[in-house]
Amino acid sequence: MLSEQTPSTEVRAEGRTEAGAEAQPVTAGPIDDGAVTIVYSDEFLLHDTGWGHPERPDRLRAIVAALQTAPFADRLRWHSPQLVPASDAPIDPLTQALRRAHEPDYIHHVRLLANRGGGQLEVDTPISARSYEVARLAVQAWLDGMDEAIATGQPVFVAARPPGHHALRHRGMGFCLFANAAIAALTALEAGQAQRVAIVDWDVHHGNGTEAIVRDHPQIAYCSIHQSPAYPGTGRPGVADRDYQLLNLPVPPGADGSTYQALVEAQLLPFLRNFDPDLLIISAGYDANRDDPLAQIHLQPEDYGWLTRSLLGISRRMVLGLEGGYDLNSLARSVYETILACLSS
Ligand SMILES: [Zn+2]
Repeated sequence: MLSEQTPSTEVRAEGRTEAGAEAQPVTAGPIDDGAVTIVYSDEFLLHDTGWGHPERPDRLRAIVAALQTAPFADRLRWHSPQLVPASDAPIDPLTQALRRAHEPDYIHHVRLLANRGGGQLEVDTPISARSYEVARLAVQAWLDGMDEAIATGQPVFVAARPPGHHALRHRGMGFCLFANAAIAALTALEAGQAQRVAIVDWDVHHGNGTEAIVRDHPQIAYCSIHQSPAYPGTGRPGVADRDYQLLNLPVPPGADGSTYQALVEAQLLPFLRNFDPDLLIISAGYDANRDDPLAQIHLQPEDYGWLTRSLLGISRRMVLGLEGGYDLNSLARSVYETILACLSS
């Protein structure tokens, strides 16, 4: 069902670990065959948040089922991320990547809590015995997706959990353990794979963790469209936004696709054109759906299609990684529309 990693991807992964390496030419990757790569592993189901928690394994089961039965299923290329066994090196490449965004003490804390069988990382963020390992694999999945998008110049979708955009340098929160999007951006820059990375966060909640980690980095722009007021209470536009590297677009409860479309055309796309990114990282949460139980925005699944097409007009070197989205039906339909847009535009 899931195909193995291609040898050419392994070569690119080696290139990334060489800090300060020359930017990899896009032509170094495989020839584009019109397919979209989905990065996924059944291991992501093993992060157990307990009965009744909205951020649950069934979210990924719903997405995978929708994609495997889609009319375009034969145009999807499945890639399964792997944790590289620890080497003799003092710090393995994945831990190096984690430390670009997180304090070593925090990473150690997550590991210890998992090793003790799990517990509450925060009041709303339970973890289980396998969660540390699974969260590391999720980071690897985002890095693999980033490598693939850079190598092929085509969008890649990462269906991984746990999500990451609320995770701060020194603590997890809001169902998030490690800051996947920020880690991918910092790693691409460190390896010279990109020069200007834009992170677009369309999850209905503000990505407070991502913003806090990347906001002072001169080569990273961060933009979020989110409901306000809502969790976590951050993301208000500020005077510092005028440096064109930070754009927070709060929308009120009850807003629908027309509100989003107006903001995207009037503010988001001009912001991105001005920054001129050579890599787009999308924090793709689907909890702005009308049917989502955690927010009050009224997007339809089709809205994620035009949103994706709009952003592909900025750059096709795009990695989309799953953040929130808690109504299984609208989550699966929205990811479907996202992938359809990637295939058809
Ligand atoms: Zn969210």
